[in-house]
Amino acid sequence: MIDPLPVYPVESASGVRIRLSGGAELVDGMSSWWAAIHGYNHPVLNCAVAEQTATMAHVMFGGLTHRPAVELAESLVALTPEPLTRIFFSDSGSVAVEVALKMALQYWYARGRMEKCRLLTIRGGYHGDTFHAMSVCDPVTGMHHIFGHALPGQFFAPMPQCRFHDQWDEADINGMALLMEQHHGQLAAVIVEPVVQGAGGMRFYHPQYLRRLRQLCDQYDLPLIFDEIATGFGRSGKLFAADHAGVSPDIMCVGKALTGGYVSLAATLTTDRIAETISAAPPGVFLHGPTFMANPLACSVARASLQLLLDSPWEEKTAAMAQQLRSELAPAADLPGVAEVRVLGAIGVVEMDALIDVAKLQRFFVEQGVWIRPFANLIYVMPPYIIGPDDLSKLTAAMVAGAQFIAR
Ligand SMILES: *Cc1c(COP(=O)(O)O)cnc(C)c1O
Repeated sequence: MIDPLPVYPVESASGVRIRLSGGAELVDGMSSWWAAIHGYNHPVLNCAVAEQTATMAHVMFGGLTHRPAVELAESLVALTPEPLTRIFFSDSGSVAVEVALKMALQYWYARGRMEKCRLLTIRGGYHGDTFHAMSVCDPVTGMHHIFGHALPGQFFAPMPQCRFHDQWDEADINGMALLMEQHHGQLAAVIVEPVVQGAGGMRFYHPQYLRRLRQLCDQYDLPLIFDEIATGFGRSGKLFAADHAGVSPDIMCVGKALTGGYVSLAATLTTDRIAETISAAPPGVFLHGPTFMANPLACSVARASLQLLLDSPWEEKTAAMAQQLRSELAPAADLPGVAEVRVLGAIGVVEMDALIDVAKLQRFFVEQGVWIRPFANLIYVMPPYIIGPDDLSKLTAAMVAGAQFIAR
């Protein structure tokens, strides 16, 4: 409010291009924060919204149900790991995380174990901005320095050190195993972003970590929650990031790309066991009920977006994007001021040694004709999957030039 960063007024957006009101066109590197995987103004998605608008924009989801919600639920249950059979729709990722955590709490309530109400996660995570979600975000890069005194205290295992492409080191799970051994009596669940830690620092950790985590959760009878809100729907090169490890969670959150970036919608999926345990005890239902739960417009466009994705060669496309990002960002690794370059699926990251002057670098990127939004010490892209090789080259060239520009 006092000294705001500049903002750029947008006139329209189509395909991978964002058009500013002055007429400048920017190649989009952000997919509007992981969401617009098919690009903007997509005829199929536009049509899904228009047709649904003409039928009904919304009805309450208490005592009523509708085809868009039922069909979307069926598709999501079919696409996600097999044990996940029950679904809860909500309005945003943060709420989907709140719902996941609440499911774990109500599951233990139903079993008469109210002392099991704390959460275990890993450092470097990001799970949203509402209160319980915030409590499991990284205590340093999250908002704990301001809100920590008002947040429930959770347990934080060390950040996994073993990177995605490293040799697995069994010591990496020790911190997590120790915390679980010490505190499982108070724990309701473990929550992590599988493989890709997104807004907490854009890090890619070893899939074996998830396999070991799954074993530990089984050993201590703890629900395992995967937050796939950023990674879901192909972004990491697999349909879900947990597919890199071949393990399934007991509760899973999806959001962001769910509607192809059209409108906010999220879902929390769980198993028969958790859903039935909750419902077998008083009051007999899971206690959450968003006003706009399963909004038909959102469900229709999500259904269309999923179909578009599954009908597209997304796996080849994200693999090709990974290869191009890797080869074209490689030169940045040797630049002064660059700490590391890393790529996984359709995600490319240039990590700088120091915090970035966002306004300055943002202006540089806009002048280069690209939309890349740096944060902290990170220059990163996760473009729409429909991007062509030439446009992707524009993004990578701008990232390399931007790293040079900012280090000067
Ligand atoms: C963005 C994000 C959220 C929060 O989603 P919102 O829709 O912004 O509330 C939660 N978890 C992860 C991993 C995210 O990337």
